[in-house]
Amino acid sequence: MPVDTELYELLGVSPRATEEEIKKAYRKKARDIHPDKNPNDPNAATKFQEMAAAYEILNDPDSRAIYDESGMDGLHGGGAGRGMDDIFAQFFGGGGGGFSFGFDMGGGPSFKKRNDSIIEHEVTLEDLYNGKSVKMNMEKQILCTTCKGSGAKGNAKPKQCSTCEGNGRTFVKSHMASGRISVSPQKCTDCNGKGEKLREKDRCKKCKGSATVKEKTRQEIFIEKGMTDNQRIVLAGAGDEEPGVSAGDVVFVLQVHPHESFERTGNDLLVKIKITLSEALLGFSRILLTHLDGRGIKVTSPPGKILQPDASIVIRGEGMPIYKRSDQKGDLFVLFDIEMPTEEWLQSINRQTLEKLLPPKKPEMQPQPEIVDEADFEEIDRENIHDGDDDDDWEDDEDDDDDDMYTGYGAPEPECRQQ
Ligand SMILES: [Zn+2]
Ligand SMILES: [Zn+2]
Repeated sequence: MPVDTELYELLGVSPRATEEEIKKAYRKKARDIHPDKNPNDPNAATKFQEMAAAYEILNDPDSRAIYDESGMDGLHGGGAGRGMDDIFAQFFGGGGGGFSFGFDMGGGPSFKKRNDSIIEHEVTLEDLYNGKSVKMNMEKQILCTTCKGSGAKGNAKPKQCSTCEGNGRTFVKSHMASGRISVSPQKCTDCNGKGEKLREKDRCKKCKGSATVKEKTRQEIFIEKGMTDNQRIVLAGAGDEEPGVSAGDVVFVLQVHPHESFERTGNDLLVKIKITLSEALLGFSRILLTHLDGRGIKVTSPPGKILQPDASIVIRGEGMPIYKRSDQKGDLFVLFDIEMPTEEWLQSINRQTLEKLLPPKKPEMQPQPEIVDEADFEEIDRENIHDGDDDDDWEDDEDDDDDDMYTGYGAPEPECRQQ
């Protein structure tokens, strides 16, 4: 009987299941618990990934045998306890002192940290709105199943390294400026500091003594609805394996591209929509925007209602899906930008008629100041007024800066039209 049956339980098969039964169980599970089929289960993606990881181990006769014999510890090499590189680092880092090798090579504690692979994964706002599964081919180091991560052929044991006589280090002499000779220890390159090594003929044929082999894997990650920029998706234990170290995780860090129309704040979305002057004054009923899932969003501003410049509205429940509660959504804020008609349009109509239709101009100021100067003006482009400035601190622009502010803007757009 296996020491651990958890992986079998994840697939819903007996520990005695045949390879064919395991394959069949996986195909059925993959269909049943796929996150696309279980949109209301917030843990669907995690469950799927665990099940897929279990299958990857049990589907391979070698890794299944290791799992049956020693459980997950066997697969992660947790029992081997080498980590000599780090022990070395401690010695050399600590400096001085005695130097001996009293370690139990067999089962000492592991000093090594796991090697997590961090991968930046670019996504669009559409991906975070709709959710998405991404399949990718990856290559990782796994413990050689032939030698179970020892690097040795059969029961061959490493022999003392003759270069360093088992010390794992050699001494390098160097001449100091003072004329003295200094002797400093250096990691033995022949045995890589281990003090012992496998003879050529004792090395495992499959991994050539390196204890690990490269394996191609296919991973599927789920970008879940409502996930955010920099959110991490962790495939536990899917990273590189090496002897004496538990397998690292593969960590995907989402990087969201800025969207050309939508801005996201938490669960809310913001979008700027241009409407015409007629629409602002007379109302409209039209598809204002295409949402992140491709739906058109139609909005009606009824006749009799005027939208002021910079008016904004909120459409409840049309924001981003809420992570792990994707049946709920934030809000969509729409900022209106009113486009004034062009001068060509003004030339094409009867301005007297327009003036009669529009509200009256402002009356002259009363009482009038004693002195009134007729001022000349130049038009400037409001969009570009701060170009080249560090900040938009108007107060900081003292008078001698004024000349700079008005140069280089070419022919500015007329900005001073009165209503
Ligand atoms: Zn091997
Ligand atoms: Zn050596």
